[in-house]
Amino acid sequence: CGVFGVYNHPDAPQITYYGIHALQHRGQESAGICASNGEVFSYHRGMGLVTEAFNGGQLKDIHGKMAIGHVRYTTAGESKIENAQPLVFKYTDGNLALAHNGNLVNADQVRHQLERQGSIFQTTSDTEVIAHLIARSGYEIEGAVRHALGMIKGAYALLVMTEKKLIVALDPNGLRPLVLGRMGDGGYVVSSETCAFDTVGAEVIRDVEPGEMIIIDENGLRSERFAGQAQRATCSFEYIYFARPDSDIGGINVHLARKELGRQLFREAPVVEADIVTGVPDSSTSAAIGYAEAAGLPYELGLIKNRYVGRTFIQPTQEMRARGVRMKLSAVRKVVEGKRVVMIDDSIVRGTTSGRIVSMLREAGAKEVHVRISSPPVKNPCFYGIDTSSREELIAAIKSLEEIREMIGADSLYFLSPEGMIDAIGQEDSAPNRGHCLACFTGQYPTEIYEDTKNCVHK
Ligand code: 5GP
Ligand code: SF4
Ligand code: MG
Repeated sequence: CGVFGVYNHPDAPQITYYGIHALQHRGQESAGICASNGEVFSYHRGMGLVTEAFNGGQLKDIHGKMAIGHVRYTTAGESKIENAQPLVFKYTDGNLALAHNGNLVNADQVRHQLERQGSIFQTTSDTEVIAHLIARSGYEIEGAVRHALGMIKGAYALLVMTEKKLIVALDPNGLRPLVLGRMGDGGYVVSSETCAFDTVGAEVIRDVEPGEMIIIDENGLRSERFAGQAQRATCSFEYIYFARPDSDIGGINVHLARKELGRQLFREAPVVEADIVTGVPDSSTSAAIGYAEAAGLPYELGLIKNRYVGRTFIQPTQEMRARGVRMKLSAVRKVVEGKRVVMIDDSIVRGTTSGRIVSMLREAGAKEVHVRISSPPVKNPCFYGIDTSSREELIAAIKSLEEIREMIGADSLYFLSPEGMIDAIGQEDSAPNRGHCLACFTGQYPTEIYEDTKNCVHK
């Protein structure tokens, strides 16, 4: 998911609209904006892309100098309007709006505990668990949020808005990205990614720190730690695939990090006898450019993406899914015909994409297809909000390298090593894995994982 918030700007709802639009790649299932004029909330949530959710002029009815917005990520869970965010609810002291990116690992436990104490849940989302914790605490809002943060475990980049305050919090491991900026005269913005700041003309102040809570209100901005000894574990998939290439995470530009992943991939798994290097657009383009540079081979557009095929467009039947890749990607025959092609993809999850692209390149006349993946094999599920699927579906969890190569029909196949990946991203941090989460590759989760977490596959 993607979250975006504005404090103290006359066009807060419009800025939030542009902000979540710039974060559209982080979620296409639903979109929403809630604003406060200091007294009351006005809000709208809808299904689909930001432009679809707000296609009826609803933005005109949202007013205030403070706003938060959200785009929801399509995962295997329920795709319905009740789960759209921001979540807006009343509690004893007034109104609250919540926007959350990430998955909690103890949401089911906390939910059951709250239900035993009489809470009634309207949705299946983790975010409502946070809402109930805040509402039931009995403290004033800052204390209530602190209390809630003390109860939840897992990944959360969280925005909480009251009529008069914007509260921002990041989980103690900093699993999901979150960045703070300034805009206009005394205004603040917060976003999942810096690309949204460029769109709205805001200036980056800094990343929100793991275990940090920021309160922005009429007294200005205050920061405090709600968790001691926070150890950074930024999701490495943000660099590999999820974030937009023009964003900086931890001060590192995502495109440049991907290019370096490509260079490192060449060092680890060179193909020298080849004619061209091509990437799977758009997420692998940067890595393919890096690989080509390191190899001294031409980078070519061997594959073209139809940019009008959204994920929502691909129907959930097997036949339509198979057709989906063909609608989305085409091989450029005149580029690949008779050529020995190095094909770079950013990841293999279920193995469907790579397999289809290899056969597509062969049908277009490629003589050889060598596949190089700019991340390590994904062998473990993610419990922190990225849809890397359940374990049984992860091809690298159940098959050997040679079996995967054979299945996708490549002449050769290699993955980047976890060490090489960390080196290439180049984050300087004294925490384990230099401050990255590598759990889906290594199985070492930075938080506790509960049986309930393992049973619930992706909400
Ligand atoms: P596969 O086809 O092997 O299941 O998935 C790998 C492909 O999906 C890669 O081309 C990659 O760019 C893309 N991908 C990587 N991570 C994700 C993810 O979290 N969600 C979705 N929908 N696609 C992903
Ligand atoms: Fe990211 Fe993988 Fe960690 Fe999930 S398990 S947060 S996808 S690195
Ligand atoms: Mg891809």
